[in-house]
Amino acid sequence: MIEIDGSAGEGGGQILRTSLALSMCTGQSFSLTKIRAGRAKPGLMRQHLTCVNAAKEVCGAEVSGAELSSQSLTFVPGQVRAGDYHFNVGTAGSCTLVLQTVWPALLMAHAPSRVKLGGGTHNPMAPPFHFLERSYAPLLKKLGANAELTLRRLGFYPAGGGEIEVTIWPAKDALQPFDLNDRGARVEGYAECFAPALPRSVARRELEQLGTALGWSGDQLREAPTRQHEGPGNALLATLVYDNLSEVFTEFGEKGVSSEKVARDLAHEVRAYQMSSAALGPNLADQWALPLALAVWMRQREASFTCAQLTDHAKTNFDVIERFLPVKFSTAPSEGGWSVITRPV
Ligand code: ATP
Repeated sequence: MIEIDGSAGEGGGQILRTSLALSMCTGQSFSLTKIRAGRAKPGLMRQHLTCVNAAKEVCGAEVSGAELSSQSLTFVPGQVRAGDYHFNVGTAGSCTLVLQTVWPALLMAHAPSRVKLGGGTHNPMAPPFHFLERSYAPLLKKLGANAELTLRRLGFYPAGGGEIEVTIWPAKDALQPFDLNDRGARVEGYAECFAPALPRSVARRELEQLGTALGWSGDQLREAPTRQHEGPGNALLATLVYDNLSEVFTEFGEKGVSSEKVARDLAHEVRAYQMSSAALGPNLADQWALPLALAVWMRQREASFTCAQLTDHAKTNFDVIERFLPVKFSTAPSEGGWSVITRPV
């Protein structure tokens, strides 16, 4: 039984999700204590509990401590089963984080799986659907792990109600680690504003202000289509496409926050990334670590990447990954950011 301290490092929900994902992939049991001790409201919240229950369903695990607010958990995994799954957070909690919990296990299975998810699709502090679709999934595909993602309905806080469908194909024998030290030449950059159930002027103002800040215009500024019964919600996205990867940066509008501030904060994030010469932005770097480590372990071959920033979140994630997989992360400052090497040990 691997013992994990949920208060270590950043002390957030990622420690739980990475432990669940890698427990399923490797068949190792774990016990987790002090769950999310670093957060104002520690313990399992609805989104985290949905992750635990989803993982339990995917591999028939024996679990104790799977309750709202629980601060400790034990998880004894069984055999991962490909299949048709439906996971609903039940609130506006992020369903993309639930997807990321089961994705690694399902790609290690022997047959394709279809996963339907319900909850928030665009949440602060979680990967928005479009980030998974444009940034994360294409990198997994390069590793050899194919998936198709469809957004059926947008879901924002507080109403939720978002829906995503994903097909995950088996990739255990296809995984090949690769180096990602250079983002390559820039292909295009564009912004979209998703603002269902809000006046169109909100989207227009945010896009105009972002356009002014980044020097983007015309077709680079897009009011994204929305459907009836979605929202209310407001996400401003900037997508940067390079030869070797795409990055998606997101800011959220809310009551009392001006469109100027939403656009300014997003422009700031985009510029920080553009000023770095590293391949990955801060969020993609922490999320890339797990699938890359799986490939490094499977093929017993090292791989490296560079990132603009090395967050506490990423470092905490590296530590948890090292507890489950025989790999070692080494980090060093490099020109324009950080260089990370993942080696089999
Ligand atoms: P907690 O409530 O404990 O803080 P959590 O379960 O909501 O935690 P975190 O541990 O903070 O989650 O992890 C959030 C994850 O979402 C991280 O992997 C981070 O990279 C990712 N993330 C956050 N914001 C974005 C964003 N704008 N784009 C892409 N990914 C994001």
